Amino acid sequence: MELIIDNLSKTYSNGVKALQNISLEIPTGMFGLLGPNGAGKSTLMRTIATLQEADNGSITLGGIDVLKQKDELRQVLGYLPQQFGLYPKISAEVLLNHFAVLKGITYKGERKDLVDALLHKTNLYEVRQQHLKGFSGGMKQRFGIAQALINNPKLLIVDEPTAGLDPVERNRFYNVLSELGEHTVVILSTHIVDDVKELCTNMAIINQGKVCLKGNPLQILENLKDKVYKKTIHKQELKTYKQNYKVISEKLFLGKPTIHIVSEVNPGDGFSLTNAALEDVYFSEIFNNANLKFN
Ligand code: ADP
Repeated sequence: MELIIDNLSKTYSNGVKALQNISLEIPTGMFGLLGPNGAGKSTLMRTIATLQEADNGSITLGGIDVLKQKDELRQVLGYLPQQFGLYPKISAEVLLNHFAVLKGITYKGERKDLVDALLHKTNLYEVRQQHLKGFSGGMKQRFGIAQALINNPKLLIVDEPTAGLDPVERNRFYNVLSELGEHTVVILSTHIVDDVKELCTNMAIINQGKVCLKGNPLQILENLKDKVYKKTIHKQELKTYKQNYKVISEKLFLGKPTIHIVSEVNPGDGFSLTNAALEDVYFSEIFNNANLKFN
């Protein structure tokens, strides 16, 4: 199964070009769609999920023409939107059972088995009788995944799922997601580099409605091997370094600014070689337009 997006474009009525000729081939497995706020990720996710129209282009999933055969797509789609409401005074088990009824699973026994399996899969079985209003952000997100899996989807879309989760909850969420990629096309839209680093076998970075980079994260990193150097500097020196080097990231390390630069040769000057990180790739694409050659 493969999701193929070809030349997709969308301009909103206020003139914002949210998607500009997006083309992506997304195979079974975890696919990370990475980009800053406003990049166009939600517009793309909602278009794939048949919730809004594109102006041009096509999307196919196996034999389904997504933009035309909306009902067919919805039968095989699981979708966890950025924001979703939950009934607060009802337990996870009861609400999941209710959703399963709505999705047409009419036999009680079959439904109970399915609900139990989904609660186990998302690590919520122990808390199944608690009211949802007492759930943490991470538990709510895992519940969101459980409901998205009721119809055993072939395509699962999760939009910014880890925003606002603490590191422990984020980790639990990763564990739940990583099992799903074995038989499903899972698209994870996020502005958090770690989400992609931990989970995804393929990725794309989008910015201002365009794909800036796509590929396998490990291969993308391989292209930066032996080209990233780091140095801890004083804050007031940053401007000069930016003039003299291709600075691709700057962050505080133990309270001091540390810069990463990209260079084909050893720059000397107190720099030392460092392992390229996906953050380096991301920041260079998003903030610096450093025109790195990845192929
Ligand atoms: P992301 O999910 O990456 O944050 P979005 O797809 O939500 O990005 O937004 C992409 C761009 O389109 C942004 O500039 C946003 O302000 C704009 N946008 C999103 N939805 C609408 C809308 N319904 N009408 C007009 N502009 C919109």
